[in-house]
This record gives sequence, structure tokens and C-alpha cells, in this order.
Amino acid sequence: MTNLPEARELMVERQIAGRSIGDPNVLAAMRRVPREEFVPAHLREFAYDDTPLPIAEQQTISQPYIVARMIEAAQLRPGDRVLEIGTGSGYAAAIAAAIAAHVDTVERHAALAQSARETLARLGIDNVTVHTGDGTHGLPEGAPYDAIFASAGGPHVPRAWREQLALGGRLIMPVGHERYHQRLVKVVRRTEHDYDERTLGAVMFVPLIGDDGWPAEDAMLDPPAVADSPTQHARAPDDLAAAIRAAAEPFTDFESAILEYFTDRFAARRVVLLGEASHGTAEFYRLRAAITRRLIEEHGFSIVALEADWPDAAALDRHVRNRPPASGREAPFRRFPTWMWRNTDVKAFTDWLRGHNATLPQERQARLYGLDIYSLSESIDAVLRYLDSVDPAAARIARERYGCFGPWQKDPAVYGRAALEGGYAQCEQHVVAQLQDLLRNRLDYAEHDGETFFDASQNARLVASAERYYRAMYYGGAHSWNLRDTHMFETLRHTLDARGPHARAVVWAHNSHIGDASATEMGRISREINVGQLCREYFGDEAALIGFGTHAGTVAAASDWDGPMEVKEVRPALDDSYEYWMHRAGQPRFLLDLRPGVHDALRARLSEPLLERFIGVIYRPDTERYSHYAQASLADQFDAYVWVDRTSAVEPLPTPMREGTPDTFPFGV
Ligand code: SAH
Repeated sequence: MTNLPEARELMVERQIAGRSIGDPNVLAAMRRVPREEFVPAHLREFAYDDTPLPIAEQQTISQPYIVARMIEAAQLRPGDRVLEIGTGSGYAAAIAAAIAAHVDTVERHAALAQSARETLARLGIDNVTVHTGDGTHGLPEGAPYDAIFASAGGPHVPRAWREQLALGGRLIMPVGHERYHQRLVKVVRRTEHDYDERTLGAVMFVPLIGDDGWPAEDAMLDPPAVADSPTQHARAPDDLAAAIRAAAEPFTDFESAILEYFTDRFAARRVVLLGEASHGTAEFYRLRAAITRRLIEEHGFSIVALEADWPDAAALDRHVRNRPPASGREAPFRRFPTWMWRNTDVKAFTDWLRGHNATLPQERQARLYGLDIYSLSESIDAVLRYLDSVDPAAARIARERYGCFGPWQKDPAVYGRAALEGGYAQCEQHVVAQLQDLLRNRLDYAEHDGETFFDASQNARLVASAERYYRAMYYGGAHSWNLRDTHMFETLRHTLDARGPHARAVVWAHNSHIGDASATEMGRISREINVGQLCREYFGDEAALIGFGTHAGTVAAASDWDGPMEVKEVRPALDDSYEYWMHRAGQPRFLLDLRPGVHDALRARLSEPLLERFIGVIYRPDTERYSHYAQASLADQFDAYVWVDRTSAVEPLPTPMREGTPDTFPFGV
């Protein structure tokens, strides 16, 4: 469960202070007011996300940053009397009231006004008066005001508001000729008849509806917009779709020569990273398989690194190299989410790879490796099994050290919590010592068999990374994500090193790991890094980051972690998203080359931040905007983008029972 007070603190630090809001009164107010109390109960976990959220009557609670920005611009001071138009949830009024002496706020929807009153009373905020009515007339009985601000956008500044400003008073409101696009305007009353006016930048608010705002009737025709976010640009005009269409290289099937021609452009790179917009979409697997086959067959790539756990991938690797299964190991990929790797498309690819490798000497065979971090228990077993066979004395010591995880080995997340609460972080020293011992004996051990030594050392590294990862999970924030992606990146480097100076790798992982995080709000706001970014920093132009996207169709996903797989409908892409514009380009499948110098005008357009959809192993269509979309700059994130307008769910393979499975390694079918 999200730790909300901590999330609030991080919100202030990253979204508010991190975007140069410096007014200490505003920062203190944002730290104090619990936003979760102002959002609908089912969205509480998103209360500190960097986004507006829906409230009743098709209205929104503003993005935290925009509230802070307006209130800073209004220069609220203790003692001020303030008027707000557009109470909505009451959140912005509560922030203003945490600074000023008194806030009058006006809301046209009686139901919203009432619920805001109740929220404010529940929180003991007694210096706000909520009024119901058309706020475009201001509130003559309360005037003059030191500050007036509107949380809804109108075509001009209503006259009444200017008149109700005190001398020296500040008025902040969104003004625009379009209902959902405005510029923030600041008006300062210098003298009785003299006003300064300037604009502060583009914003998107819901419309101000009233006698001196927009008329109500046609408002009904408007979409219930994702309003309020401070997009740096107006909604992209329709010619963006035309520009995408012009650059798009359409393809029909996965064997097409166009796909090969496209792949060849990246064939000289050391690492080609292939993303996916969900973990359960068949077309993404098929495309990645087609691209990877080409890179292996024609261009000598010899590493396929998967967003899968090391021991699982190692088992699959034995299969593709026509080796018998390691003794004492269960069939791989039995843990949630099994469909991610146990599906018909992965099987088809690995069957192909097995056939391909059968024709080659060992050193030229392509191998599979797992980059991920979730196999603490299996990796411990693997290290112990290895030491049992090469150095039984060292195995005894390792058993003692790893025994530190004791009861938690099967549920390491609980270890993380215990470590935090009870100082059990002592496992840290043990796992690090174990890894160091193993690496120190590298020469001795590798003499027996370099390959099994490498496997064991990677498992020991994984145990050390996982120990830190599970502790970091309880610190919240970006720390554990960054540990995981750093581990993935370092594992990739180790596999490249192990295969020699000319080795080249393909990576299969989600777009969120592959697309350069510094070009997304993950990186810009949450300070998260990822494999793609680390590859760019380390390999420079030798890394190609390729993203995948879709508009609609079906996807295999669960509703909750550890829940059963379901085939879910993917909702059509939202208006403000890249996916929407790709869809509007009107081509069912296409490739988009985003390398510098190819389509630079389009690249510039696709660098302007828009929403991008991320579906993982969980998909929750009901809260899609808040749980699955984030802002990104697509052309900065990827070197190329692959579009499949309609996609379908992967077909899972049956998962064998744990006991007494016939040995139909590795898939049990
Ligand atoms: N500050 C709010 C944001 C609310 S959205 C918050 O933090 O939650 C804007 C609100 O303005 C909507 O609730 C809408 O109903 C209201 N509104 C629009 N036109 C209005 C008008 N003429 N008078 C009063 N409220 C209005």
C-alpha cells in the first residue's frame, strides 16, 4: 500500500520544489494539506501522482503542481483575503487557506460545493466559506480581495473580478479562445483604474461556465477533457497525424522485407533493445522474434537478454542449445506472471532458436539470459548446488551465510520489511561476502568449467542485488526501481563481457525499461533511471532503443499482483496521447525511424511531451488514465517506434503442476 504521508513529501520535493516553486508558504501548505482526502476513495493511491484526477460532475481536482503555481503567482501572504472561483474538490481552497486569513470559494455545481464543505469541515479547516453559484460575477459582498484565482478557464477576465480586487491585489486565471486550452494570466491592480497584465504560460483547465464565461449549452458537447495539466503546447493539430503518415513505413506481415530492411539499419549496434507496450500482447513478441531472428541469422548477434529471472532463462537456454535440463530444477517460469514467457509465441521463437543453434558450433550459438532480479530463492539454490559440486567446504560456509534469510527466503518482500523494522540488514554483509569469495576463487573454479562458474557468479550477484532491492522496496520512491534496472543493465554488460569483445546483444523488455527514462516523467519527475538510459550513457550510438505501441485490441493481464491471467479489452488510446496520433495516421502497422537526421521535423513534433500508455502484467482499464499513462517525449525516448494499431492477447501455455510433472522440458507441452 502506498505510504501517503511519504508520497506527499516526495510530491512536494519533486513535482513542486523540483519545478522551481520556491515560495516557502506554498511549500509548507502543500506539505500540510492531505490531497488524498479530496480525491474519490478509489483513486486515493494516486493522490500524489503528478496529474489531475477526476471528481464528480465530470470535473477534475487540479494537478498538485498547477495549484502550487497559481498560488505562488497570486503571492498569497498570511492575513490575505482570497476569492477562488471553481471550488471543485476544495483542495486548492484548502491550500490557499493554509496561507491566507480567509478564503471565499464559489462552485456552480451544488453537489460539489456540498462535498467540498464536508471535506473541509472533516479536516477542521474553518477559514474557508464555500458558496454555490455562478462565480463569473465574483462575490461582491466579500470584496475587495487581496487575491482572486480561478480554477476554470474562460474566454476573458470577467469584469467583476477586476473590480473586486483590492489595490495591489493579484488575479490569476486561465484565459483562452478555446474551451480547454488557455494561458495563465496574471492581473495586478495598481490604482483605481490601472491594471498590469501578463501571461505566464500554457495550461489546460476545464471551462469556466457562466454569464461572463463560456455558455453552458455547447459545453455539453465538449469532451470531459483531461483538463488542467500544464502541457507546454496546445493540443497538437491534425497535421501531426499527416506527418506521421508521411514518415511511416507500413508493413503487413512479420516476415516482410520491409521489416528486414528496417532491422538492418540497427545491425551494426552493440545492443538493440526491443520494447513492448504491454507484457501480454502477441504481436509484440512476434515482431521482436522476427527482428531478433534477422539479427542472429544475418548479423551475428549471439545474446538474447530477457526481462526474466536468471535461473529461468538459464533453463530455457539449455533447451535452445540442445542441452539436457540441469538436474534438480523445476520447469522454469512457474511464478506469476507465467504467461509472460510461457506463451505460444515465445515457444515458437525458442523452437526456432534451438533448430538454428543445432547447426552451429557451440561458440557461435545464440544464448538466452535473464536480466531480472526476482529469483532470490532459486539463485541461492543455484549457488549452493554449484559449490557443492566444485568446493564442498565453501558450500558449507555459503549455506550458513544464506541461512540468514531463513524464514524469508520464499517471501523475500517480508524480509525487506523485517530488515527495515528490526535491523536484519545483516544479511547484506553475508551476501556480499559470499559474492566476493566466489569471485576471488574465479580462477580456480573457472578451471573446471567457465560456463557454470559464470552462471553461479551471476546467481550470487543476483542474491546480493535482490537483498538490497527488497530492503529498498520499503523506502519507497525510485530507489528500488533504480536498483533493479541497474542490476539488469549490469547483467547485460556481464553477458557481453562473457561472450567476448565482439559479442552483440538483443534485449527484450518492457518499454518502461527500454525507452530512455530521462525523456519521460519517470526520469524527469520521479528520478527513475532504466536500462535504456544506462545503455545510451554507456554505449552511446552503439545502442538502439526501439519502442512498440498499440491503439486497441486485447491483452493478457491480471487485475492484481498474483491474480489470474485474464484476456482484457485494451481501451482505445486517449486523446492526448502519442497512441492517439499514431492511430490517426491511419496505417494498421508501420515503422517509424526516429534517428537524428531522418525525419527531423517529425522528431521535433514527437519530442513535445504527450501521454504514453504503459500496460504491464496488471491492467486496470477503469483507472487507465492514472494507472497506465505517463508523460513522455517519444522521439527522445526511442531511436525507432513500431506501431500495430490492433493487437491481441498472447496465448498462454498450460503451466505444469509442481509435483510429478512428466519431463517435457522446458514448457511441459
Ligand atoms: N480547484 C479545484 C479544481 C476544480 S475544477 C480543485 O482543486 O479541486 C474547476 C471547477 O470550476 C469545477 O468544479 C467547475 O464546476 C467549476 N466552475 C466552472 N465554471 C464555474 C463558475 N462560473 N462558477 C463557479 N464554479 C465554476
